[in-house]
Amino acid sequence: MIDLKQNVQYIKGVGPNRAALLNTLGIYTLGDLITYFPREYEDRSKIKKIGELEQGEEVTIEATVVSEVIENRIRKNMTVLKATVEDDTGKCLITWFNQTYVKQQIKRGQNYRFFGKVEKNFTQTELRSPVYDEIGKNKNTGKIIPVYPSTYKLSQTAIRQAVENSLKMVASKMEETLPEYLLSEYNLEGIEESLQKIHFPSSKEEHIQARKRLVFEELLSLQLSLLELKGQAETQTGICYSKRAKMSDVINQLPFNLTKAQLRVLEEIDKDMESSKVMNRLLQGDVGSGKTVVAMIAAYKAVKSGYQAAIMAPTAILATQHLEEFQKILEPMGIRCSLLLGATKKKEREEILEQLADGSIQILIGTHALITDKVVFNQLGLVITDEQHRFGVRQRAAISAKGINPDVLVMTATPIPRTLALILYGDLDISIIDELPPNRKKIETFAVSKRMEERVNHFICKNIDEGRQVYVVCPLVEEKEETDIDEQKADLKAVKEWTEKYQKEIFPNYRVECVYGKMKPSEKDKIMEQFKNGEIDILVSTTVIEVGVNVPNASVMIVENSERFGLAQLHQLRGRVGRGEYQSYCILKYDSHCSQVGRERMKTMQETNDGFVIAEKDLELRGTGEFFGTKQHGIPEFKIANLFVDMPMLKSVQSVALKIETEDKGLQTQKNAKLRKLVDDRLKQNIAL
Ligand code: ADP
Ligand code: MG
Repeated sequence: MIDLKQNVQYIKGVGPNRAALLNTLGIYTLGDLITYFPREYEDRSKIKKIGELEQGEEVTIEATVVSEVIENRIRKNMTVLKATVEDDTGKCLITWFNQTYVKQQIKRGQNYRFFGKVEKNFTQTELRSPVYDEIGKNKNTGKIIPVYPSTYKLSQTAIRQAVENSLKMVASKMEETLPEYLLSEYNLEGIEESLQKIHFPSSKEEHIQARKRLVFEELLSLQLSLLELKGQAETQTGICYSKRAKMSDVINQLPFNLTKAQLRVLEEIDKDMESSKVMNRLLQGDVGSGKTVVAMIAAYKAVKSGYQAAIMAPTAILATQHLEEFQKILEPMGIRCSLLLGATKKKEREEILEQLADGSIQILIGTHALITDKVVFNQLGLVITDEQHRFGVRQRAAISAKGINPDVLVMTATPIPRTLALILYGDLDISIIDELPPNRKKIETFAVSKRMEERVNHFICKNIDEGRQVYVVCPLVEEKEETDIDEQKADLKAVKEWTEKYQKEIFPNYRVECVYGKMKPSEKDKIMEQFKNGEIDILVSTTVIEVGVNVPNASVMIVENSERFGLAQLHQLRGRVGRGEYQSYCILKYDSHCSQVGRERMKTMQETNDGFVIAEKDLELRGTGEFFGTKQHGIPEFKIANLFVDMPMLKSVQSVALKIETEDKGLQTQKNAKLRKLVDDRLKQNIAL
């Protein structure tokens, strides 16, 4: 058996220099290299006639050279070589730059195959810098060629050669990674065959078959790992909260009736809390569906059973807002809630920590500050994280470690289709609030082009004069990739420009302020506080306000260049308004150059307020990577699977995994030994998380 862990450096044709470049792509071992999958393929197998060539396309032609190769030195470092070729439909000029060796290889009167890009105008057809083969040799043409994700320093040819050599090394020496019974039951190819074909398929069908096998393996090992994590969590003994700590006691104190959906999820939570199992539950509910009050009621139950509860929110603004909501109801019932932020002053902090340790503070609400070592609870029994997709799994674990197997409730407003939720939160049980509190007015949504700006401004005026407030969200300035400008700077620039425009040009008589990512948290909080108090009419920001702020008097959301936002994000932004009694509006301004996808997004936004419908549509339009945003944690990285394209496969793999797990918990039988190894490897690398 071959050692897949051996250093890439020793693969034929690699060496230390190329190895260093491969390392930058995350390729360190032989195993990494053979599983470095092509990004796409170039089909150089189909041959086109010169007479049929179209401007801009990349094609293979077969033609006879009918001229000498002429070399022209046009300046110091630039030599152009030209030759004319011909087939039975026409002539074509071939141009190479600085490749003087071509002169030795290309012979007048001989036939070759060329693959390159077509430049066509009125007078001539030209093929630029093509690769070529003598007829009968299929080195560079005549086949499907893999294209790898790469840096410009490492050529496609170099990677291709390295992969080709490594595949030769492993041939007939690799251990099969899936059990035989799965291969035959699901009609999958062996590992070696599929690796060979994923890199160098000789037809589309071969590629499909190879991909199927590799995707199956990747998704199966992920699902099995998640089931295992869940199984481990279920064997832990947690806290049994008291039946006498009744949720209904606090429910009766609320100024409103809970919705049916809120009551249902509370029942699920109540059951978890009273059982000896550790609760690991995801609470999912659209913006405004009332998750906070659910968290509060769960915290109440924990406290009444003699434990402390911790609530972690992603921003200081949100944590503060939660505290206010909790205090309003719980303080009169004799429960002490407190707030801990990064910005909390030393003296106050010390006091809080002391009272937390002696148990006199029963509910602690805060930001990441809760995770720090200094925070020690007396008897932590319940951990709630809000807007989970902004916290990593590790952060969740860090706060849980402050208690002894505390119950965990994770809240998120990102509507996640069920199949995906299984991947993202496979280790959690799921509760869904699928109903908004009554009497919520539907947020009217309009997509308007820049031409209608004046009418929009007029509309803003009207609302402010009626006493309402307005959010304006602007996108980051688009920067060229190479400049790699840090996002916060771009953020600042965008927001300053828009604020100036709104304040000076359009609304000199209203108070316009801005918040942005790079602002000091204390300044940001100050502005948000003023906005909440109605001292600011128009608040300009980037997406920093995306997360749960509650300003019921704000009734208009303007999104500038909304075509640059994803659907899920637009939906979250829209959720900032419509939080009070007033009819609210979301105005999506778009550029006339807006793409088809952009238009579809806006159409969806106008048609529905339902987060789940929007999530499905977003997935369809963008695929999962962008759906969750590159910066957001939680989505596992895939080497080959694509959750949107492979959704049907994912569904079937999920049931396969479940079946295997039920029949052989812990994958202990000989039959599943290979699966055991896949799961161990994955958990060791932490990639299931
Ligand atoms: P989210 O789920 O987005 O976090 P919140 O918990 O912030 O939503 O709730 C939004 C608003 O709705 C809050 O002002 C909250 O007090 C209110 N609310 C929650 N549940 C109900 C209900 N059942 N009836 C009326 N209002 C409610
Ligand atoms: Mg919330």
